[in-house]
Amino acid sequence: MLGASLALIGLGVVPVGAATGEGNAQRPNILMIYMDDHAAQTIGAYGSAFGPTPNIDAIAAAGMRFDRAFCSNSICGPARAVTLTGQHSHINGVRDNRGTFDGSQATFPKALAKAGYETALFGKWHLKSTPTGFAHFEVLRGQGPYYNPLLINENGQEKHRGYTTRIVTDRALEWLQKGRNPKKPFLLMLQHKAPHRNWQPGPEELLLFDNVAFPYPATLFDDWATRNRGCRDQEMSIAHHLRDNYDLKLAAPRGLDPEQLKAWNAAYEPRNKLFRANPPTGEARTRWNFQRYAKDYMRCIMGVDAQVGRVLAALDAAQLSQNTILIYTSDQGFYVGEHGWYDKRWMYEESLKVPLLVRWPGVVTAGSSDDHLVQNLDFAATFCELAEVPDGMQTQGQSFVPLLRNIEPSEGRDAIYYRYFEKGEHNVPPHHGIRTRSHKLIRYPDEDFTELFDLESDPSELRNLAADEEHQALRRDLESKLKALAAKFGDRLP
Ligand code: CA
Repeated sequence: MLGASLALIGLGVVPVGAATGEGNAQRPNILMIYMDDHAAQTIGAYGSAFGPTPNIDAIAAAGMRFDRAFCSNSICGPARAVTLTGQHSHINGVRDNRGTFDGSQATFPKALAKAGYETALFGKWHLKSTPTGFAHFEVLRGQGPYYNPLLINENGQEKHRGYTTRIVTDRALEWLQKGRNPKKPFLLMLQHKAPHRNWQPGPEELLLFDNVAFPYPATLFDDWATRNRGCRDQEMSIAHHLRDNYDLKLAAPRGLDPEQLKAWNAAYEPRNKLFRANPPTGEARTRWNFQRYAKDYMRCIMGVDAQVGRVLAALDAAQLSQNTILIYTSDQGFYVGEHGWYDKRWMYEESLKVPLLVRWPGVVTAGSSDDHLVQNLDFAATFCELAEVPDGMQTQGQSFVPLLRNIEPSEGRDAIYYRYFEKGEHNVPPHHGIRTRSHKLIRYPDEDFTELFDLESDPSELRNLAADEEHQALRRDLESKLKALAAKFGDRLP
């Protein structure tokens, strides 16, 4: 029965009426691994300069890699709210990280729960209000720590000892193996804190990359010529804004157990001694900061990668791999030295883009890739279609299930809409814009400044063409498209 159903799906045929009741074992399980600040360019399958990420790469090898997947507001809380609701920030209400998510609005976990799915959430939540739509949750308070986390559940809270990436995976796998109702299909959200600032590696990865030098990004010493003033005024540079005792680990973090502290000091003290004996200055200090930052960032990723391996093995062991759609993505992208930066927020590619890998045995072609424009705005509609939710959900996104089935969508998308609202941490100015397959236009209303990039000839976005005589017709076209998109989504632009 299961085989026949998968064969039908493989032909792109959705079994009509085969849905909706509780306990319908034919509907696929959905397991979403949702990262915090994981840059696509640091994943082996996306061509990482820092080497392979074997278990994450295995998801890509068995599934589909999306090469044009983007967020719509590149910051944690807002991106999460968009993912849950399929509504842009000005509709779901979480415009910046100060916002509290209104859990009474429609979300895909609620829609799936109502349609008979067993829903659970583990790890980073970061939306301030209590999670809704989950039969069970265990979440970090706010950002949560890298070590010895407290997990809040529907009945109270529990303190755990150890490394958060591993503990969150342990909790999710225990639920998968013993906690859920096996008669229902499940939605499992496994949301890591890693690799969010301040990039504290796990005990197994403390010495990883110790004897290698990471390659420097070509734009590490970007001078931001021709671009908006905010590029020079930002406070997120590798050169000046990484804190010695916090980001760069010149002192051990507080709250570690004696054993944890011992391992930590063994890993960091030899390098710290060298640094103190001969502290680099100028460009050399920037390079030192980059190595220190990028390695800790990647150590956190490799800690996640090891846990992804455990998830893949657990799905196999429980014979769940065939009927579980596995999604690997992140709330937004990140800078790992590109343009001289860490952090996110900007509409430039590194923080606009998100990794998106989908494994769906029997449907998605193994090792395939897709270059349609998709967004985190699309998850809710996609999951409703996968779970065959009757009537779906009203969202501003569109399901990318056709792309998974290798079918050209009837309603194509020729551009995505972006808006960053926050005016605060890291001093990045509010901006909004449009990205097509080949170009990007960004408006900075506070400065009354426009940027226009040709992404094909200038993928690093170093040459702003907005004032260029030859590009005025294109600029006007993109400006009017941007206005039309804002109107379509009901947003009022400044
Ligand atoms: Ca984030």
